[in-house]
Amino acid sequence: MQKKVYFKTFGCRTNQFDTQVMMSKLKDYDLTDDEMNSDFIVVNSCTVTNGADSSVRNYISSMKRKNPDAKVILAGCGSHSKGETLFEDKKVFGVIGHSEKENINTVLKNEEPFYQIGDLEHIDSTIVEEFVGKSRAFIKIQEGCDFRCSYCIIPAVRGDARSHKEETILEQITKLASNGFGEFILTGTNVGSYGQDHNTSMAKLLKKMSMIRGVRRIRIGSLEPIQIDDEFMELLDEPWMARHMHIALQHTSDKMLKIMNRRNEYKTDFDLFHKIASRGYALGTDYIVGHPGEDDVEWALAMERVKELPLTHVHAFSYSKRDNTASAAMKPEIRGNIAKERHRELTAIIKAKNFAFRREHTQALEVLLENGNNGVYHGFDQYFNKVSVQSDEDLSSNWVFLNDVEVTYEGNKATV
Ligand code: SF4
Repeated sequence: MQKKVYFKTFGCRTNQFDTQVMMSKLKDYDLTDDEMNSDFIVVNSCTVTNGADSSVRNYISSMKRKNPDAKVILAGCGSHSKGETLFEDKKVFGVIGHSEKENINTVLKNEEPFYQIGDLEHIDSTIVEEFVGKSRAFIKIQEGCDFRCSYCIIPAVRGDARSHKEETILEQITKLASNGFGEFILTGTNVGSYGQDHNTSMAKLLKKMSMIRGVRRIRIGSLEPIQIDDEFMELLDEPWMARHMHIALQHTSDKMLKIMNRRNEYKTDFDLFHKIASRGYALGTDYIVGHPGEDDVEWALAMERVKELPLTHVHAFSYSKRDNTASAAMKPEIRGNIAKERHRELTAIIKAKNFAFRREHTQALEVLLENGNNGVYHGFDQYFNKVSVQSDEDLSSNWVFLNDVEVTYEGNKATV
């Protein structure tokens, strides 16, 4: 009987993808979803905050108690930050770095404890896709980041930006499109840096993708303001571009942006957002609240500015300390209850803006539905607003075109 491997994944979507890469490379082992009866537990760890480190450590300790015979292997970002200590303290049997993922089948054959951290320049040969229903696919097109935001540990554990080869990406998309996938979402650690190491660009990739038969709508996971150049702006009217863009600002106070060592500033962000919105786009952003130094004055200014931006979506994060980052030593820290209140204030502002936007955009909505339950299907329109559609027909993975939606504060609804 083959030995059994259980994968435990912490953290972001990229880590979920990396687990899939490892799973696809296991040839001489069986996968199991029962951690208590596995011979190996591969912990694909996250190290983005101190809290993430503790969750990984607690999980490893609990598994050592509950399934003491299993060999625990540490993989993922935590290998690069905490791997050495955990290995030396004999908390794990083995440690592998990102570049060793694809060798997992061989690595597990080690009889002796091992520490194979590898390097941070490697890019996997496997491009992973993840599917939502039968028609939307996430494609990871690059890895790593060249930015050095003060609060972020990612470049230290995932390395600098490097892109997958264009031909491999296009080949994969062609295959998926011919199997009925119509919407593609491009992802990565810092997706907008795609191509800079291969003398190409995101705009060129998008144009080539759009020429593939069956590709109907393309979204980009996230972009940085400085990555949006003229070549990219020229694509805004293309019918295959989703009418929603996620552009990571992280803050709207210039003092805070400087403290965070960001490359954007409010004035240019303001112009960019208004330019894109005027072309019919909904706009989302990432925003960190409660970073050290965010005093009441900066916060009040930042929120005045948020109100001036044509934003429709936000991923708001409460700052959480990460050792070995510049921000970890910064003062004054912001109390948790204040950060929580700011988080609430920000999300309430954007929710109201989103409602106003949806009220103005009730016509010609193109919705790609996912699987449904009891005749109710959920999907996203081109503006990345969720729509629930009631129907007696089986509409799973179908596109529907709506000209009449009921707009409530919580979301859009329609019956077809
Ligand atoms: S852009 Fe900044 S926050 Fe994002 S991964 Fe790079 S360093 Fe981290």
